[in-house]
Amino acid sequence: MNITIIGTGYVGLVTGTCFAEIGNQVLCVDNDKYKIDMLQNNRIPIYEPGLEKLVHKNTSQKRLRFTSSVKEGVNSSEIIFICVGTPPRKDGEADLSSVEKVCQQIARFAKSYKLVVEKSTVPVQTGIWIKQTFKMCNTHVGLDVASNPEFLREGSAIIDFLNPDRIVIGVETERAENILRELYQPIIYRKIDPSLQNPSSNSEPVPFIVTDIQSAELIKHACNSFLATKISFINAIADLCEKVGADVEKVAQAMGLDKRIGKHFLKAGLGFGGFCFPKDLQAFIKIAEKFGYDFALLKEVERINNQRPLLLIEKIKQALWILKDKTIGILGLSFKPNTDDIRFAPSLEVIKRLQEEGAKIKAYDPAAMEKIKKLFPSVSYENNPYEVAKGSDALIILTDWDEFKNLNLKKIKSLLIRPIIVDGRNIFDPNEMNKLGFLYKCFGRNVTSSDFL
Ligand code: NAD
Repeated sequence: MNITIIGTGYVGLVTGTCFAEIGNQVLCVDNDKYKIDMLQNNRIPIYEPGLEKLVHKNTSQKRLRFTSSVKEGVNSSEIIFICVGTPPRKDGEADLSSVEKVCQQIARFAKSYKLVVEKSTVPVQTGIWIKQTFKMCNTHVGLDVASNPEFLREGSAIIDFLNPDRIVIGVETERAENILRELYQPIIYRKIDPSLQNPSSNSEPVPFIVTDIQSAELIKHACNSFLATKISFINAIADLCEKVGADVEKVAQAMGLDKRIGKHFLKAGLGFGGFCFPKDLQAFIKIAEKFGYDFALLKEVERINNQRPLLLIEKIKQALWILKDKTIGILGLSFKPNTDDIRFAPSLEVIKRLQEEGAKIKAYDPAAMEKIKKLFPSVSYENNPYEVAKGSDALIILTDWDEFKNLNLKKIKSLLIRPIIVDGRNIFDPNEMNKLGFLYKCFGRNVTSSDFL
């Protein structure tokens, strides 16, 4: 099939590359000329494991191309996936101006039937507005709208895209359903390169859920809000654990073994960030409000999450008292491991607060330093965790990259001015850390008297 992807960011580039990988001709469009220039010159604008290799494979086999011309994109395919950003506005609502703009362009340039698929995360009823936009543009060609929410996770995006738990499509016509069903056949029946298969997936066909457009749109917001709720729930439990002397890691482990609950998203600590959960939660609260429902449950999820960086700062203060002129070493800047994405990362709030307190900051991240440098030019960016530790009054861990789990802690201790680690991701065992002579503060676990210097 010929497919056009409009918006070649984290989702668009992965979607386009994976559709090319399963045998389609894909043209990826973006209005960021710099990004398209990089891609046309075989350079990848984002860090995502395995992506570079797969892009190169598919461009060299001439199944994947890039352009900054929406007109060219619209004319070269029958199926158009919209993957542009839907960032939050100041009031928390999703900003759909890029979606609208792209739809106007599609209506203007389309000379024959198109299936326009929303893959960007959008509030329920966006499909209705897209159809309305097509109507207002007076287009006479047939345009079908469908919703196909994306559930990939940054850091494992390719494996997630090609081995999904389910594929959801919201459609209004049989034609749209048939096109999407055919497109997804190799993924549904797991006919993909063995090196791209998820070893933990079973061999059953991937469930292909067909709904109306509104339900598909709502499914995405419902999923992300539910996962965010799980994270804030365990964080609330962590705060209680600290007060009563319990261990949240043990509580989460036992809870997770209950099949009705499941072990995922029960990791206490600094909370969630990234381009999906915070904005999708806000947008879902707003859209519910618009339709007369006060989603107080999700407001509390958001409140608990917004508190996490402040709690971390409190823990640093409990260890160091005054932060002015102290040097704080930060390990991890991306919102989660295996990505360079810093959008809505807790590190942004933590750095801002530390700078307000007058602390000096040294930092290291395996992938995200280039992106964050522009926002915080006065931070001293180092080449590895040991350079960060050298001469720092305390070390804080904000992202659970594997590299940090395997640190030589004795060396770290010898380099720090004071043996203090504040761990926002609970990656070490508090007893071991105490034995090594660290003052180790984490979330929901370290409650013993050895906290005191
Ligand atoms: P992104 O910012 O990385 O990519 C969006 C791209 O769209 C950018 O490259 C931008 O230049 C381009 N763009 C914006 N307006 C355009 C226009 N008018 N014409 C052409 N290109 C345009 O964002 P992303 O992380 O890929 O997210 C895209 C959507 O997918 C969002 O709605 C997001 O919520 C959703 N989503 C993201 C993830 C994720 O993990 N990042 C997962 C699932 C769903």
